[in-house]
Amino acid sequence: MAVNSTGLWRLLRLQHGASIINVSSRSSSWWSGVEMGPPDAILGVTEAFKKDTNPKKMNLGVGAYRDDNGKPYILPSVRKAEELIISQKLDHEYLPISGSAEFCKKAIGLALGEDNPVITDGLTATVQAISGTGALRVGSAFFSKFFPGPKAVWMPAPTWGNHVPIFKHVNMDVQQYRYYDPKTCGFNFSGALEDISKIPEGSLILLHACAHNPTGVDPKQEQWDELSKVIKNKKLFPFFDMAYQGFASGDIARDAYAVRKFLADGHKICLAQSFAKNMGLYGNYYVFSTIWLKDVKGMADRIISMRTKLKENLAKEGSVKNWSHITDQIGMFCFTGMTPDQVEKLTKEYSVYLTKDGRISVAGIASSNVEYLAYAMHQVTK
Ligand code: PMP
Repeated sequence: MAVNSTGLWRLLRLQHGASIINVSSRSSSWWSGVEMGPPDAILGVTEAFKKDTNPKKMNLGVGAYRDDNGKPYILPSVRKAEELIISQKLDHEYLPISGSAEFCKKAIGLALGEDNPVITDGLTATVQAISGTGALRVGSAFFSKFFPGPKAVWMPAPTWGNHVPIFKHVNMDVQQYRYYDPKTCGFNFSGALEDISKIPEGSLILLHACAHNPTGVDPKQEQWDELSKVIKNKKLFPFFDMAYQGFASGDIARDAYAVRKFLADGHKICLAQSFAKNMGLYGNYYVFSTIWLKDVKGMADRIISMRTKLKENLAKEGSVKNWSHITDQIGMFCFTGMTPDQVEKLTKEYSVYLTKDGRISVAGIASSNVEYLAYAMHQVTK
């Protein structure tokens, strides 16, 4: 089963005014028991950034792609797709409940490869949802209702912040397996294998297909092969979240390695896909063309080159720390290994904004400020 995403659908729904919920009064006693939700950690970072008057300030909190001038980037393929959509004068009729069949076909083909036997043998069921978050939401509700195994999901520690509440909302118990090793700022392979081998048989396991958020730490291909074996032996059901296909390496097939390998090994899987990051929008299928393949590679390459430059500049600053994880990690984020105190100093004294866990969005770095960032990071970590 795969759950895919598109914002076009959301846009249409909004135009129809169908997806707005109104409650009559905030003070009504009906709602007195409603608790305030937790503040959004990332938006808080952006608010503080906006208020800062330092001309050298940098916002590395939000995971949105920026060009080398630090500006939001509209992919040329997306611009082209917008023109096509307008020129085709599409209607605004309802889609079926499971979304656009053509979109679903393209999306699953992109994930698995169009000639994957799972697709050609008709063994996939794909539904369209509202971006990656909506896909996870629909998928988690499906598992909560129909999964025959224990109503628990095992997630990597740490994982993307929204994974936990999404699964808790559907009354699934959330458990974790070891993933990130703070000592090496890399993958804790032996810890993960040990923990996964102790998960009760028939359970649900969540895996980040590539460019793990927030750590940027991915298993190597041979480690995925081993994980696939252990997960199969334990009869676990893999639920992949793939929010960065193409964004990690610039190569869509390479980034889909784990998903495709698990299928080749005979697993049945669930896959939540998002096109928010790799298309720079809540994507739709019109943009999937050869131009997009070039665009996504361009974004991945710029990020990879910023990682190299940041590491080089830290060495130039005289940092004797081992920063090899900056280039070993992959995707939009780098888990720097900086402590909360160091992060606070970086923000207060150098106007560099990031989340307290030390995660930086590498997409927020540019050629013009990578030296300044290295300088500031060295000052707070030496
Ligand atoms: N999963 C992960 C791991 C993510 O990082 C994201 C994006 N932050 C998503 C899912 C879903 O993203 P969206 O709803 O923006 O498509």
